[in-house]
Amino acid sequence: MNTVLVTGASRGIGKAIAEGFAKEGYALAINYNNSRESAQDFAARLMKKYEVPCGAYKANVRDKGEVEEMVSRVKSDLGTIVTLVNNAGISTQKEFRDITETQWKEMLSTHLDGAYNCTQAVLPDMLCRKYGKIVNIGSMWGITGGSCEVHYSTAKAGLIGFTKSLAKEVAPSNINVNCVCPGVIETDMLKIFDSQTIKSLENQTPLGRIGTPKDVAKAVLFLCSKEADYITGITLNVNGGFLI
Ligand code: NDP
Repeated sequence: MNTVLVTGASRGIGKAIAEGFAKEGYALAINYNNSRESAQDFAARLMKKYEVPCGAYKANVRDKGEVEEMVSRVKSDLGTIVTLVNNAGISTQKEFRDITETQWKEMLSTHLDGAYNCTQAVLPDMLCRKYGKIVNIGSMWGITGGSCEVHYSTAKAGLIGFTKSLAKEVAPSNINVNCVCPGVIETDMLKIFDSQTIKSLENQTPLGRIGTPKDVAKAVLFLCSKEADYITGITLNVNGGFLI
């Protein structure tokens, strides 16, 4: 059975990605950091609804030891991980001069150390099997740069570089590495914006609406499918035309 680990799957985009994989019959590991109850309830619901092996696994992706422990528990419960989605993320809006060293490091570490830790933990098995699919969740702000989001944009731009380099390195082992770059997606992450700002973001989107977590999940599912076997190293925009 195909086993997938989705990081930050207790809420938002990760949750929709996880449900997409469960629907496709994958054995599913739902990673969470703080939202234990909702991750566990969600895992139980998916197991019942789709009759797939599924579990909720706690790990702060910034912590290499916690990630290694999580991956070894997933392997013994659900089998070798051949699909990884590096989705866990945080965002804050701040003028650059006000970003503290702690906030800067936390932002870079969550996205970049997170991808490093999780990918390093699963890659040896993928290399051994000569098969694997890795999708990193970037952001359009990592491509175009976001004002008052220098730390976030920097981290997401880093993930794009990570994707491209790793894709070249592991392609001979039949491992695909891609990046999905969402635009504005309706999740808890948008709670920092008032309704006027949301309306203005909607107006700036050629397709005329904010994206849903499912919009992003469909792109991730595609990149992890057989149909995408010849696609690697790309950044796939899912942004309603906000950035073209
Ligand atoms: P949410 O805030 O809704 O969810 C974030 C998820 O990440 C939660 O499940 C949270 O887990 C998890 N998480 C955060 N930090 C850690 C950590 N250190 N270790 C493990 N898990 C962690 O965010 P979204 O769903 O909106 O975002 C998902 C991804 O999509 C992020 O990478 C984000 O940058 C990206 N993105 C989002 C956009 C948007 O408009 N929403 C646009 C572009 C990109 P828990 O609750 O358990 O702590």
